[in-house]
Amino acid sequence: MSNEFNNMWDRPDQKDNFQRNTQNTPFTFADTESSTEADLLPDEEFGNDVRPKQQISGYEYDIAVIGSGPAGYTAAVSASQLGAKVIMFEKEALGGLWLNAGCVPAKIYLKSADILRSVKSASDCGITGGSGVSIDLQGVLTYKNSIVSKLTSYAARLLRSCRVRVEAGEASLKSAHEIVCRGRIYRVSKIILCGGSKVDRSVIQGSSHKGVWGNEDVFKTTEIPSRLVILSDNSEGCEIAATFAAFGSNVMLIGMGQRLLADWDAQVAEAVSKTLSEAGVKVHTGISVKEITDRNGSPYIITERGGVLCDKLLIATGRKPNLSFLGMLADDIKIKNGAISVNEYMETSVPGIFAVGDITGQSFQTQAIYKMARVAAANAMGGAQVVNSFAAPFEIKTTLEAASAGLTEEQAREKYGDGLITGFCPLSANVKSILSGKTTGFVKVLASRKHGEIYGVHIVGAEAAEMIAEPAALMQMEVTIHEVAADIIHAHPTYPEAFGEACADALGKSIHLFKTS
Ligand SMILES: Cc1cc2nc3c(=O)[nH]c(=O)nc-3n(C[C@H](O)[C@H](O)[C@H](O)COP(=O)(O)OP(=O)(O)OC[C@H]3O[C@@H](n4cnc5c(N)ncnc54)[C@H](O)[C@@H]3O)c2cc1C
Repeated sequence: MSNEFNNMWDRPDQKDNFQRNTQNTPFTFADTESSTEADLLPDEEFGNDVRPKQQISGYEYDIAVIGSGPAGYTAAVSASQLGAKVIMFEKEALGGLWLNAGCVPAKIYLKSADILRSVKSASDCGITGGSGVSIDLQGVLTYKNSIVSKLTSYAARLLRSCRVRVEAGEASLKSAHEIVCRGRIYRVSKIILCGGSKVDRSVIQGSSHKGVWGNEDVFKTTEIPSRLVILSDNSEGCEIAATFAAFGSNVMLIGMGQRLLADWDAQVAEAVSKTLSEAGVKVHTGISVKEITDRNGSPYIITERGGVLCDKLLIATGRKPNLSFLGMLADDIKIKNGAISVNEYMETSVPGIFAVGDITGQSFQTQAIYKMARVAAANAMGGAQVVNSFAAPFEIKTTLEAASAGLTEEQAREKYGDGLITGFCPLSANVKSILSGKTTGFVKVLASRKHGEIYGVHIVGAEAAEMIAEPAALMQMEVTIHEVAADIIHAHPTYPEAFGEACADALGKSIHLFKTS
């Protein structure tokens, strides 16, 4: 069924044969170009032709999307590609957390931290004069704002080019086919909820202290706190810790879990923790925070192991799905563990209402969200696609990068026992790493002893996030370590050669690793 649907996606000439699998009126595909409505403002870039599409479902809009983060804009664009007349609601800034206070700003700040570190250590490569450089946070902020603004404008133009109507305001559900926004009721055929998540500060008493930051504050400040405490054991907290340590703050990372990055492979998590410590971050895990009090205007954190005084405290613990817009359907849409529960088609317990992204609690990673959003849009338009995110890669960047796809070693051992083989290539055996002076790290491959099927790949080191693309794609295509070792030729000298070597190592055939027998 899902293959059939993919074919339909690829061949718009067959749209007329497309049937929905849900209960309401079947869609027919109207000629969207013949719409006479012109209630979107003309856009200079696209001329005066930018008009909303004609609806195909008998409702005012075929698809309504709440939220414009990666889940929302992807769902909207996908639905539009499938012929829907789409409206999107956004109560804050276009692009959501991702663009305004999450992934994008975090990576921009990390880039500045990276450059600062590189310049400071440039003497290692024979470049003098770098030791006196420092950070100008106002400059970083200005640079970040310019990139965010470029991406916001790109997103706006993209949506406009897809003839998606973007409505500024807080939307709330009135019924399965009605959305209220700024006093107006919009009648829609299908709804895709993409409202994202927020940090729940209320879990820690005293978190309204003026010295307490949320993510959004980090990327607005021009102040480098002398003592910054970050409550977090997830990748976001680690990234911000690495950034501010490079900027000159004394950083303490306090994790409530037993270790950092609980969902990651233990060896990767340990490597990240070590690299943070080497960068000067004080890492404490397994600590429960009781309360935040005030000491002469500064936050004082009371933990079971004692108190910590700081200038700023960032609460970057796990985010909670934002469910504030469920309105009249709050009792009908099933919630599980504080998140909107969806089936494999990304549909909620109310037929015709789909949910994607952080509100589902299924993934706090954009790459998986993009896929989920496309699937939700396709299914809202009558498809029956499911998401297979087994090989979806994820990454973290501190003073070095790490990236993973598939099972962790602990999960693979538990699942496959003796049926598991591992391959390992330290980056000290990779020529590109030696040339770059970046030999810290490794590639670890987990595979089936019997057939060589790849269960998981874990990379720590320079360009790990780029490197994981190859193994993740190969895992999705069910390519084995035998095929990688025998048939794939990597360019030389490059980091991905280490992946080939790790696969060969699992088979006892690596070339560049020292032999122990
Ligand atoms: C510091 C930090 C770093 C991160 N780094 C990465 C990374 O490197 N890689 C990665 O993959 N992910 C990263 N993430 C996570 C990523 O940003 C989120 O997973 C992603 O933004 C979730 O997308 P979303 O579309 O579900 O929600 P969001 O991006 O949160 O968008 C939801 C939108 O819905 C809007 N909304 C909510 N309610 C309403 C309403 N009632 N009416 C109208 N609009 C509404 C909100 O205003 C918001 O704009 C990071 C997050 C943080 C905080």
